[in-house]
Amino acid sequence: MADRLPAGEEGQVDIKKIETILQFETYRMYYNACHQWAKFFEFVNMAWVYCPGSGRVSELDKTADFYLPDQGAYFVVDFGRPGRGFVDCKKLSKQSGRSVILGSGDGTFRIFEGGEAFSGIETVLCRCAACGRWYFMNEPGSYACRVCGEYDGDHHLLQWIDGSGNVFEKMPVGCEWLFQRMKG
Ligand SMILES: [Zn+2]
Repeated sequence: MADRLPAGEEGQVDIKKIETILQFETYRMYYNACHQWAKFFEFVNMAWVYCPGSGRVSELDKTADFYLPDQGAYFVVDFGRPGRGFVDCKKLSKQSGRSVILGSGDGTFRIFEGGEAFSGIETVLCRCAACGRWYFMNEPGSYACRVCGEYDGDHHLLQWIDGSGNVFEKMPVGCEWLFQRMKG
């Protein structure tokens, strides 16, 4: 493969290079989505660790993008990460026994548990009235707080956002407050 097209053949298409450019575009979307979700986790004061480079070593840690320590759950951003192939959230959730949340760049999300896939409507991000923390859960399942264990029917659910809509629109997170926190 030549590093450029010969003079006079500029009109031709170098498919390999086009593919590489499109790959960069996917990475851009991946990092953009990571940026959005990390800002969101920080904004709602949810504990999070970006898995790559974290030193965490399980298969899920190597594959997922974020580990959410409060809930013992994992979060996968729905774009190809450099060096990562297809991610089978269903299989990962079954093998590990952990919750795996798949989040898109458009602020929608869904949960996988025990090899079962739940839709966006069945996936909920809740805030617990007892501990004040946010956690992901599946709506047909138990409402019990996954951070502190509180359960009071649905009375302990302070806020409720399902995964079918854009959570970034419901809770707009800019950068201003981040910079303010850095100054403070
Ligand atoms: Zn709680």
